[in-house]
Amino acid sequence: MSESDKVILVTGGTGLVGRAIETVVKENKNETEKWIFVGSKDADLCDKVSTEKLFEKHKPTHVIHLAAMVGGLFYNMKHNLDFLRRNIHMNDNVLQTAHENGVVKVISCLSTCIFPDKTTYPIDETMIHNGPPHSSNYGYSYAKRLIDIQNRGYYEQYGRLYTSIIPCNVFGPNDNFQPGASHVIPGLMRRLYDIIKEGNTEDKEFTVLGSGKPLRQFIYSIDLAKLIIWVLREYESVEPIILSVDESQEVTISEVAEAIAQAFNFKGKLVYDLSAAEGQYKKTASNAKLRKYLPDFQFTPFKQAIKETTDWYIKNYDQARN
Ligand code: NDP
Repeated sequence: MSESDKVILVTGGTGLVGRAIETVVKENKNETEKWIFVGSKDADLCDKVSTEKLFEKHKPTHVIHLAAMVGGLFYNMKHNLDFLRRNIHMNDNVLQTAHENGVVKVISCLSTCIFPDKTTYPIDETMIHNGPPHSSNYGYSYAKRLIDIQNRGYYEQYGRLYTSIIPCNVFGPNDNFQPGASHVIPGLMRRLYDIIKEGNTEDKEFTVLGSGKPLRQFIYSIDLAKLIIWVLREYESVEPIILSVDESQEVTISEVAEAIAQAFNFKGKLVYDLSAAEGQYKKTASNAKLRKYLPDFQFTPFKQAIKETTDWYIKNYDQARN
């Protein structure tokens, strides 16, 4: 490597999105890039000194900041203060340490679920701060929104190109399948696989929490990884960019449950628990900005991505985050 080459530090490198980037990078080697993937064992990013040691060790020129306290609806509702404080600490430590060490580019991760609760659809990049988020995940949302404010500050005061991406819901291999803490897709997969493992599913019922009617956009982690690598190499703006599937690819939760049941070859019946909370009815995001740059990008078909994820889960059940 020559001095002009990139050293890219990926925080949250052991998580769902980080592992997907690692997979894509391994398949498309670029000799001018050195990639370093770190998790919480390498540094506690809630701690400034620990963060500084990490940067001293690896001397990154670029940072993809994925580390975060992340969880599904039910976990968020019970831990809003922890989500707020831990994420604020991590984000501030990473951004400030990057700045102090002369890192030229930082890409941090927001989420489409941090947008205002009361809004018009589709949501776009200009609407992040237009009103309070949904009360179920206000801690995570406000901490994430502050990244955008901070990026603008680093640009105004120091000319830094620290930017952010806004993925829709992500799923794929290496997701968190722990009951209580997981997002909807790994949560459904985990619960259904528990039934499948008992054998003979024909007379079994599988309960989906909620009506199954809410709409969501889901991006396969491998597709998201490809887009993040594109942002690293090509996207030169502080303004956030939504990384989502098209609006036409939005699916209902019942379509998700059916796709998972099909992928597992579940022969029983799906039932819906109407008494359970189900969050926002929809939060459709526009990927028009992304499509201006990458009109021909092909997203993996949803059912295929679900099948690849269930296959991975069955094969890696013993090592998965259960
Ligand atoms: P995961 O929960 O899979 O991974 C979280 C990562 O953060 C892990 O690598 C974990 O390390 C690391 N981490 C957590 N706490 C600390 C800490 N104190 N110090 C250092 N590292 C820490 O997350 P995802 O891959 O799902 O999410 C990546 C990013 O994408 C996040 O910023 C998230 O907010 C965002 N996002 C995710 C969406 C989704 O649907 N999953 C949707 C939209 C945005 P370790 O595992 O080693 O403990």
